[in-house]
Amino acid sequence: MLENWVVMPTCLPVVLRRCHACASQRFRANGKFRVNANHKLIDAWLLVLCTACGDTAKLTVLERTNVRSVRPDLLDRMHDNDPGLAAELLQDPVLRCRNRIALDWDNAWRLDTGGSDHLDREVIDISVRFAARIPVRPVRLIAEGCGLSRAEVERLIVEGKLVSAVRLSGKLSGDFTFTLKR
Ligand SMILES: [Zn+2]
Repeated sequence: MLENWVVMPTCLPVVLRRCHACASQRFRANGKFRVNANHKLIDAWLLVLCTACGDTAKLTVLERTNVRSVRPDLLDRMHDNDPGLAAELLQDPVLRCRNRIALDWDNAWRLDTGGSDHLDREVIDISVRFAARIPVRPVRLIAEGCGLSRAEVERLIVEGKLVSAVRLSGKLSGDFTFTLKR
C-alpha cells in the first residue's frame, strides 16, 4: 500500500535580497501589495520588509500593464492584500528572476506523514507530495518521516534498501516516491 506524505508550507519563506538601508539580506512579505493605476496602465508590487531594520522593498508584480490584460481576480486579491497570493507569487520563478530574489525556506515548512503506523512494515512505499515548491533534501525528509538518522538513511541508500526513480542526494522540490525495504 502506498503511503502519502506531504511537505506543507507553514509560513511564507524569507526573501533573500540586499537591503539598501542596512547590511541585512533577509526580508519578509506581510501579504501587503501596492497598486498604482495611471490611466489604463497598472503597476503593482508585493511589499517585503527587512527583518533587521524594517525598511520596505517592493517586488514588481505588474509593470505598466494594460488594465484589460490583467485578470480581475488578481487585482481583487492585490487590493485585498491576500496573503495566499503573496505565497503564490513568491513561488513564481519569473517573478523571482525579475526581482533578483531567492527564497529561504528554513523553518517555513513541515512534513505531514499521517502517523507512523506504516513504519514497522517490511516494505514501505511512500509518495511524497510538495504542496509548494520547497527545496528540501530527500535524505532529511526520509530521516524525519521514518524516525531514522540521516546517516542511517544514507546507509540504506548505499545498501540498495532505499530506492527511488529520482536521485535522493541533493535537493528536490517536486513530488517523488520511494521504497524502503528492511
Ligand atoms: Zn534593512
